[in-house]
Order: sequence, then structure tokens, then C-alpha cells
Amino acid sequence: MKTPLFFYLTELLFPRLCVVCGDKLIEQEQLICLHCLHHIPRTNFHRNPDNPVAQLFYGRVQIEFATAFYAFSKGSPYQKLLHNLKYKGMKELGEEVGKQFGIDLLQSPEFSSVDLICPVPLHPQKEKKRGYNQSWWIASGIAKQMNKELLIALENNNTVSVDFATKIGHIRIMKCTRNLDEIPEGDHQGINTVKLNGPDICCVYDWLVADWRAFRWDSVLNWKIVK
Ligand SMILES: [Zn+2]
Repeated sequence: MKTPLFFYLTELLFPRLCVVCGDKLIEQEQLICLHCLHHIPRTNFHRNPDNPVAQLFYGRVQIEFATAFYAFSKGSPYQKLLHNLKYKGMKELGEEVGKQFGIDLLQSPEFSSVDLICPVPLHPQKEKKRGYNQSWWIASGIAKQMNKELLIALENNNTVSVDFATKIGHIRIMKCTRNLDEIPEGDHQGINTVKLNGPDICCVYDWLVADWRAFRWDSVLNWKIVK
């Protein structure tokens, strides 16, 4: 454990700086200063079902609600958040931003009632190169803040497979896992099949792309915990 003296010496030699504005952080601040956190250009789309993000899905897939945490604009100091998260190895930034997003989502009846938070998997090669999936870190922050279960979709660790039906009726399987400590003890042995009685699954994206992968909660047929 860091002693106060050790903490202050470290702060003196290697001051922690806000990722957004570059100012020195105070002891209670993590990665982003309170001033920058307060001024994040939040979209507040979670208050409006007919928001621009939801409109992107119209005619493509049936969704209940969609939102985005903050507006990304080129040249904005907040551009550094995404850049550092994706390209500078600052994965903890995702969790910090996710926690802030979770505070907003808890205010929404639609999002506060979801059962699972599910980050979209990265291509295994991309994840290997980057060393982490930034969506996982964002989702982890949201799940912690909202006290929700995290369903982690992984393509290289076949601990859970989720069967679901596509819009045109094809059956697809997505390999997933949950945090080990969230898997009920009885499911740790052998293969266990758990019927999902219609839980809401909130899919999390770090960026809106055309070829996203996800499944709707009402398309899930079952999932198998494979050990
Ligand atoms: Zn700042």
C-alpha cells in the first residue's frame, strides 16, 4: 500500500496529468480532472428515444433504445480520450469514461433495467496487437457503476457460447464468457445450459461502425457455459 509520503514523492517526481487538459490531477482525481469530467460534451441521448444514434439503426435492426455518451468532434480536447484509449494503451480510461456513462444510464428507466452489459468483441488479431479490447474496459466501467453483470464476448476463449436467431431466421452462435466470479459456482463444472428468460442485453460499442456484431436480447435462444 502506498504511504502518503510515497504518494507525495511520486506526485512530485512524476505528477499525474489530466488526459484532456494536461493540468495536474489532485489526489481524488483519476486520469481526468473534475473540471474536464464536468464539461464532457454529453449527448444526453438516453433521455430521447428518437435520437440521432437510434435513427442509425432504423430499418436495419430492431432495437429498443440506443444512445452515445459524448459527441466526438475533431480538434476538441476530448478527442484525446478516444485516441489514448485506442492507441496509447490507456485502457483504464475506458473504465473511467464507462463509469461516467453509467451515472447517466442509471437515470434512464430503459437502461437502468437491463440485465447484462455486453462489450462487442474485437477481432482476435486486433486484440492481440493492441493487448486489450477497449469496449471491454468501457463496458466494465458501465457495469461497475450500474451494478450489472458483464457478459464478455471473446473469440479466443470458448467459455460461453450464445445461440441466437438473426432477423431472417438463421441460427448463429457467438462465443462469449462472463467474468469467472460472476459464473454461478454450480456452472463451473462440466457443460451447463442456462435458459435466458428474456433478459435485456445492452451491447456496448466504442465506436459506431458499419460492420458491428451483436445480438438482440429477444433473439437469444440459449447459452451454454463450456468448461
Ligand atoms: Zn482536465
